[in-house]
Amino acid sequence: MKPPYYADLHIHSHYSRATSPACKPEELFRWAQLKGVGVCGTGDCTHPGWLAELQEKLCEADAPGLYALKPGLREGAGRDVPDACRAPVRFLVTGEISSIYKRDGKVRKVHSIVLLPSLEAASRLSTRLAQIGNILSDGRPILGLDPRNLLELLLETDPRAALIPAHIWTPWFSMLGSKSGFDSLEACFGDLSPHIFAVETGLSSDAPMNRRIRCLDRVALVSNSDLHSPANLGRNANTFFGEPSYDALLNGLRSKDPAVCGGTVDLFPEEGKYHLDGHRACRVRLNPEESLARNNLCPACGKELTIGVLHRVVELERQQRSEDGGPQPEGRGQNADAQPFHRSPSPLELPHSLTSELPPRLPYRYIVPLPELLAQRLGVAPASKKVAAAYADLLAKAGPELPLLLDADASALDALGAVGESLLKVRKGQVLREGGYDGEYGTIRVV
Ligand SMILES: [Zn+2]
Ligand SMILES: [Zn+2]
Repeated sequence: MKPPYYADLHIHSHYSRATSPACKPEELFRWAQLKGVGVCGTGDCTHPGWLAELQEKLCEADAPGLYALKPGLREGAGRDVPDACRAPVRFLVTGEISSIYKRDGKVRKVHSIVLLPSLEAASRLSTRLAQIGNILSDGRPILGLDPRNLLELLLETDPRAALIPAHIWTPWFSMLGSKSGFDSLEACFGDLSPHIFAVETGLSSDAPMNRRIRCLDRVALVSNSDLHSPANLGRNANTFFGEPSYDALLNGLRSKDPAVCGGTVDLFPEEGKYHLDGHRACRVRLNPEESLARNNLCPACGKELTIGVLHRVVELERQQRSEDGGPQPEGRGQNADAQPFHRSPSPLELPHSLTSELPPRLPYRYIVPLPELLAQRLGVAPASKKVAAAYADLLAKAGPELPLLLDADASALDALGAVGESLLKVRKGQVLREGGYDGEYGTIRVV
């Protein structure tokens, strides 16, 4: 069987705010090979400047609906890519729109990823969005456009286009965000909900968290880096099998076909700064059940806790449970509430009952980025020169990062000594996970 390929579809160009000037096609081409990302989103495909740059530097790839760096640019851009990492890199046309608008008297802020089968389609979309708002000030434009209406406009622009709600748990900017969004996919997209076939987990959530929420049962989960610097390419990614093409990739997600979709690759979500609840100054870290039992007040100072992303999942899960059964039966007190909730939704409750049983779910795997593993081993910072040198050595010997982390067989890892041992431990989940809270990064350590 051919090895899988990896796709990272949500990235940003140098036209987005707070991004590195290195976010350009040549650097993405280089990093995609080092990371082992075979299909890379273009990002920012609604920005006229970036579109012009893409038109100038990309050509149609041998894979239908995807693009490649022009041959004349490849040699220079890939100059220091070791032989062991050299591979074709395809680009899929993607962008992100920030919708800020009012619905039912509340201000909503929802980010959406758009995917298109050609640069021409992206150009048509860009022209239409320019009539609605300012698409020049940011690679990720802010528009007063309801995501439902964005989806409609997108499908009018090209029926093969698709919309994926971005990082759906981010409190301030997402479909299910506690401060900005909705309580379900259907509440956000209404009559067009059936066109949504995938949602992005974001850096702070993983597959098991998303699986607790019923409105996500029928959709595929995707994970992307949302990078603002090319070195972060593939820190979250998707596994695919077969020949890459625009339609193969999207149809695979639509049908959640296990012959095409190998599932998500995520950082451990505990690493995020707002995974759990707590107070940094009080050194108080609580999981959502503990916070709820304390009415979300800090046991040290008595003030309101900073609520993390996992809490929102628990909140929505409780909500769907009370919709299911109304008041809890007697004898199920607070302690029972704190237990993990096992539900078995009937097919009739699914948004559309296409199948008679719960739809299939894609696998998920975790990674610790190689520079972090090397940094732990060497006792230095991940951004240090020592780590950069060790990273370059290792890739020259063992090939690109994601296949090494995820697919290299035991004998290949054996040959790498202590580093190989660490990689194997991460695959087996032998890591210590301390959840981040209130702005403090979590830590993941190989044990
Ligand atoms: Zn975003
Ligand atoms: Zn406190």
